[in-house]
Order: sequence, then structure tokens, then C-alpha cells
Amino acid sequence: MAINRHHDINYHQFDVHLSHACNFTCESCSHYSNYHFSGNLPLETAEAWYQKWALRLRPFRINLLGGEPAINPKLTEHVVLARKYWPAAELYLYTNGFLLHRHPQFPAAVRNVGNFIIKLSRHYNSAEYEKTFEQVVSLLKTWQSQYGIKFAVSESFSKWTMRYIDQDHQLSPFHDNNPKQSWEICNAKYCLQMHEGKLWKCPILAYLPMVKQKLGLSKEWDQYLTYKPLDPDCSESELHEFLARREEPFCSACPAFKRPFPKNDPTKPAKKTAPPLVA
Ligand code: SF4
Ligand code: SF4
Repeated sequence: MAINRHHDINYHQFDVHLSHACNFTCESCSHYSNYHFSGNLPLETAEAWYQKWALRLRPFRINLLGGEPAINPKLTEHVVLARKYWPAAELYLYTNGFLLHRHPQFPAAVRNVGNFIIKLSRHYNSAEYEKTFEQVVSLLKTWQSQYGIKFAVSESFSKWTMRYIDQDHQLSPFHDNNPKQSWEICNAKYCLQMHEGKLWKCPILAYLPMVKQKLGLSKEWDQYLTYKPLDPDCSESELHEFLARREEPFCSACPAFKRPFPKNDPTKPAKKTAPPLVA
């Protein structure tokens, strides 16, 4: 029988939002960051979370992201902080890149902490977008040659799918009624979120209360808002059980088959009309 290492207690990863804000407007962002929440993660808050979780978790990888993590002016210090608590983990930064130039101290810090990779997402395909994107790639190539920084470009726009239905900023969950299949095709199924000091199954559940607060949500979402994240004071068996979970009834909110759609230019204000819903 094939071994799925993701269910091994020593083989988990988690994401941390260094900023809830984003400079882009990607429709159906799985972190809902297209709705432009505000809030950078303060270093002291992150350290208080890490102090507790470092006693419980040995992730093979930690993903620093958002939102757009480069919006946080303490981006560099956050990299150093994550390394202090998890010396052996691979550290990843997920970024759209357009604001990385604000962090001239970042590459030297990354060289010092080591075992770090920048995942640069290409979120659109147009001549105008490419002009700025090429500048970002050129900056990263300079960091690569001067500091040995590793980076990889991910063609995110080309495999974009709907995560929820958005009609004029009124969000609805899917009703495919097949949580097992929704989980199986889910790109976020191993994307635990460290948020508000707790561990959440995925971004769709972690940031849903923020969507409710900002946009309001219909009753269709009530069952999904009952999700309970894991507290760092949990028992060892609760932690094992949490990390081993696969599909849950909450996964019914998500599509049970992929519904790709062409993105709009995410550097422009969001369009009000939803992409056509593929049945
Ligand atoms: S760049 Fe797009 S996909 Fe990434 S967090 Fe911002 S809105 Fe979401
Ligand atoms: S609720 Fe389940 S299917 Fe939806 S994003 Fe989270 S893990 Fe994936």
C-alpha cells in the first residue's frame, strides 16, 4: 500500500499570513485576499504563537505568505523569527513579487537563515503585466547571483479555478455535495494555516470569519463558520488526529470538480461580475 507521508506526524507544513492585505485582486483567491483585508502580522504576535507551537510541531516546511507578504514592512525580521523557532524547516516565501523591491535587507537575511526558496507567482499574461514581472525576475536574478537566493516561477494564472461563487461580492459555497471528492481535488488540502495562534485546516475555513465581518455572508455559510481550529494546548492525541484528517463535512463548501476560468488582470480593480459558473 502506498504511504501518504502527509499523514505522518513529522510530515506537515503550515502557512502563516505575514499580511492579510494584498496589492492584487485575483478572483476566487483561496485566501480571500482579493477582498483587501488589512493587517500585518506583528513580530511579537508571531513570536507568541511560535513559542507555543514550536514545542508541538516539527514541520518539514513553513510557507510565509498572505495576502502579499511583502506588504509587511517586517518581512525580513519574520524570516529570521521563523528560522529561530524551526531551525530545520524549509522556509518558503510565496509572493507576487511586485513589492519585493521594498525590502533591500531581505536577501542578506535569507542567505544567513539558509534553506529558503522564493516562489514567485505569475498571476497574469499580458504585455503590460510582463513589463513589471520582468523587473521582478531581474531583481531576483540579482539576489540569486549576489546572495545565492533560490527562486522559482509558478505559472499560477494558467491553472486558475473557482474556489467559491462570487456574485457582486455576495459569496456562496458550492453545493456539489461530495466532500470526499472536493478534498481529493483540493490544492489547499495540506495547507494548514497558523492564524490567531491556532491551526486551521485550510485558508478557506481560516479566513471565512474575516469575510463575514467585512462583506457579510448568507446563511448558506453558517455551517462552515462553526469550524473549530486547534489550540496549541491540545492533547497529543488531538494533535495527531488533527494532522491525520482528510475530508470533513466542511469540505462540502468547495467544488467537487475543477472549474477553470480565465482570470482578469489582478493588478486592476476587481470586476463586479462573477466569472461564468461552469455547472
Ligand atoms: S496575489 Fe492574488 S492569489 Fe495571491 S494572495 Fe493576492 S489576491 Fe490572492
Ligand atoms: S474545506 Fe476541504 S476542500 Fe475546501 S479548501 Fe479546505 S481542505 Fe480543501
